[in-house]
Amino acid sequence: MNSTTRFAPSPTGRLHIGNVRTAVLNWLFARRHGGDFILRLDDTDTERSREEYAQAIIEDLEWLGLVPARIERQSARLALYEEAAEQLKREGLLYDCYETEQELALKRKAQAMAGHPPVYDRAALNLSEDEKRALRAEGRQPHWRFRLPDEVVRFHDAVRGEVRVDLRSLSDPVLIRADGSFLYTLPSVVDDIDFGITHVIRGDDHLTNTAVQIALCQALGGEPPVFAHHALLRAADGGPLSKRLGSLGVADLRERGLEPETIVSYCATIGSALPVEPFTDMDALAQRVALERLSSAPARFNEDELHALNARLLHALPCERALPRLRQQGIELDCAEWEVVRANIEHLADAAHWEAVLHADIPAPSTDSLSAEDRAFLQQAAELLPAEPWDDATWKAWTGALKQQTGRKGKALFLPLRLALTGRAHGPEMSRLLPLLGRERTLIRLHAAATG
Ligand code: GLU
Repeated sequence: MNSTTRFAPSPTGRLHIGNVRTAVLNWLFARRHGGDFILRLDDTDTERSREEYAQAIIEDLEWLGLVPARIERQSARLALYEEAAEQLKREGLLYDCYETEQELALKRKAQAMAGHPPVYDRAALNLSEDEKRALRAEGRQPHWRFRLPDEVVRFHDAVRGEVRVDLRSLSDPVLIRADGSFLYTLPSVVDDIDFGITHVIRGDDHLTNTAVQIALCQALGGEPPVFAHHALLRAADGGPLSKRLGSLGVADLRERGLEPETIVSYCATIGSALPVEPFTDMDALAQRVALERLSSAPARFNEDELHALNARLLHALPCERALPRLRQQGIELDCAEWEVVRANIEHLADAAHWEAVLHADIPAPSTDSLSAEDRAFLQQAAELLPAEPWDDATWKAWTGALKQQTGRKGKALFLPLRLALTGRAHGPEMSRLLPLLGRERTLIRLHAAATG
């Protein structure tokens, strides 16, 4: 089955973790089913849309690796929306209304008092041409409503299952404002038909729009896509994420040292039946993700989890992807070094310390971290240091000999050596680090630490 999906942000701000999740799910779905992923910029709101945000969205997606097959802008497609509107008008499905906001509010109030739902009463359908002319002469500009069919819409939501909406319980939606501008509904449906969108995967804040969109799609002669509404992410305290997005933009997460694969893996697995796991292979991830596995209950976003996932991802990140990124941060390691270092860092920037350990000078351990006995021990260690060539067995042979000669074991044996050679109490496996360090540097460090 060929599937085409779209991600349709309004360029009124930067991408945040919540809408990135929507992009990720759409991208993976298209990838899995061999279809296109389209970026549609919903930029008909000229007041709030900005080119700099459009650019930032494109760049953020590219950095995340979610490259769209093509980019469409609604602002360039207004003629098509006009055409669709004309077609609906000819068929009597789009009708002009002249009520002011105030008049509509009064109607709703009267309905509420009579115990009726606040559904638009379609009074405008009864206006004669003369009455309309008179209203226009008063200076009123019409807004335009879509006449909903009086029926129940049923659809199968790929996340939530059967959904049923009685359109008679909804107001005929306004598609065109009095100033002639389009609201979101008509352009979205026209584009979904025109681009051959087969699956609309989006947040459940749009669930209520769906029945209307299906009716409109049918009125325009289109085949409604499959809908999948995932539960929006919530903040760690359970509140809405959107109110706490200040520092959760893609750019911020990137600056805090997160890798694109971490963010994509997180977005693809959180709030689903899958464990939150790091994926470096996007095809493997695409195979795992299925819409039916998404939960309809909201998941909570937790930034600590994202950083822990980053550490796990780095552990699996292949050398050819890691080295260029390290180089960008001014860190030079080779593949053998990366493979030894990666298990001990949470962010790539942490590798700078290990680069210094391997290639530069590090300060000798402070005097309070090593006792006088430790220093004497390090002197002995220098004397017993095996000759090169070294391999992964050298550490064991060396520390075995030291153990025999000094009687030290466990922490007393290993910690002073680790401190002297790496400056830290924790780090990569010493058996693998030692051959990379080389005999000359090892000796210098032992002597420096022994003499304090
Ligand atoms: N521009 C809409 C939004 O950002 C798109 C919704 C949709 O996917 O249909 O909410």
